[in-house]
Amino acid sequence: MNQMTNVKLEQFPYSEAAKKALARKPQLFIDGQWVDSTGGAAIEVIDPSSGKVVSRFVDATNDDVDRAVAAARRAFDDGRWSDLPPIARETMLHKLADLLGAHADELAELEAIDNGKPKGMAAAIDIPGCIGMMHYMAGWATKLGTEASEPMAMPRGTFHTYVRREPIGVAAQIVPWNFPLLMAVLKIAPALAAGCTVILKPAEQTSLTALRLADLIAESGIPAGVVNIITGNGHTAGDRLVRHPDVDKVAFTGSTEIGKLINKTATDSLKRVTLELGGKSPVIVLPDVDPRVAGPGTAQAIFFNSGQVCVAGSRLYAHKSVFDQVLENFVEATNFWQPRASLDPAGHMGPLVSDEQFNRVMGYIEDGKKAGASVAVGGDSPASEGGYYVNPTVLVDVKPDMRVVREEIFGPVVVAQRFDDLDEVARQANDTRFGLAAGIWTKDLSAMHKLAAKLKAGTIWGNCHGVIDPALPFGGYKESGLGREQGREGVEAYTELKSVIIQL
Ligand code: ADP
Repeated sequence: MNQMTNVKLEQFPYSEAAKKALARKPQLFIDGQWVDSTGGAAIEVIDPSSGKVVSRFVDATNDDVDRAVAAARRAFDDGRWSDLPPIARETMLHKLADLLGAHADELAELEAIDNGKPKGMAAAIDIPGCIGMMHYMAGWATKLGTEASEPMAMPRGTFHTYVRREPIGVAAQIVPWNFPLLMAVLKIAPALAAGCTVILKPAEQTSLTALRLADLIAESGIPAGVVNIITGNGHTAGDRLVRHPDVDKVAFTGSTEIGKLINKTATDSLKRVTLELGGKSPVIVLPDVDPRVAGPGTAQAIFFNSGQVCVAGSRLYAHKSVFDQVLENFVEATNFWQPRASLDPAGHMGPLVSDEQFNRVMGYIEDGKKAGASVAVGGDSPASEGGYYVNPTVLVDVKPDMRVVREEIFGPVVVAQRFDDLDEVARQANDTRFGLAAGIWTKDLSAMHKLAAKLKAGTIWGNCHGVIDPALPFGGYKESGLGREQGREGVEAYTELKSVIIQL
């Protein structure tokens, strides 16, 4: 029996390292220390593969949030981070990236236990993604210099002017449960490179890897108080963070609904805000593509991470001349995506993250059927003892006004439709309040570039889907977000510009 969490961990097929992480005392990481909460409430960690409770963590109180913000404020204001030589900051961030690499196997397992994603996928995608992001952003610490700029209205040599780029200050960063560690690293890396200090709040469904990240941050040499990690519910701890007067910037990834709420609250005090929100991304297959390539390719676009991806290709549009063959190959590809327990090495798709998410996705499927959609494959849950498994699902015979076509389902459900010409499919693809990403499958260069220009989305993929690179800006048009992460823009989003004008 584990004294701290009252969970019998012996019954689970976890490694010793994972059991140790699960058995840790529920605490918060504030000012470089592990501290107890001022309240007694805890949140349960549920393994979505079994539906069983495997650990507990703190539900932070208002006082806890205030302590974390105060620590970040002090750490910013006294310059212990932002005033360091940039190379010192860069070196510590590279060290943190290396530490993530040294713990890759444990982190992948914890992610699988917490989120339900296959451990193999976490090991192949999430953890290397974290390491790459951290190394990439580390480099910006030494490259975000002051810019020279000449005034236009003064005689030459009479004024000295320059533009300083300075860190914004204290950043509150709130992340979701679909890529828990990757989202956490994606948030802290640019903030730290820019010289900001941080309070990070992981999602209440998936906090395990963020807590391990705190251990690695302490080990990396990053000074106390620069990163504070607090766990807790969104409507309480998250909301307190967003409202806090000592927070200068809020960065959020999550649902459009909560993003809008956060934007309203944060902009009331003119905090800087970056939002990465939902999507309903179209994937367009043109007639020249081999359906044996397009079928599995577009299936991966939706079923990777059980469809719990903001850029999931959830609306498939195939040209009417190839629709039937693409659909046939797509349906065949669902064999590869049969859901299995996250620690089953044969699995490519796991369960959904939670009971709530399971009910939501099954509700959408039922709603689609009631509205007249037909199920080409899936539409149900496999027989299992516990766990939140949904079979890969393809809905056809859908109409543009159905909820399954318009709303983000965030599960392994795609709606497949036919189209006739490029203008028509561009109009259909853009007929959404979202604008995060879109996919185009064709070898016809002219059609590819024409469509890429017409589609209103922050990322366009050609003959692939979901490829993310730290050097390329990522973000949404329309209700999919505000601002861009990654690339130069991603780190500049943690800075303010200051013009200095001196008469000589
Ligand atoms: P999902 O709907 O996918 O669960 P959410 O947008 O609800 O995603 O949650 C994403 C993150 O936002 C989580 O860390 C959650 O705790 C946090 N959150 C939820 N509601 C609020 C809120 N009102 N204020 C601040 N953060 C919130």
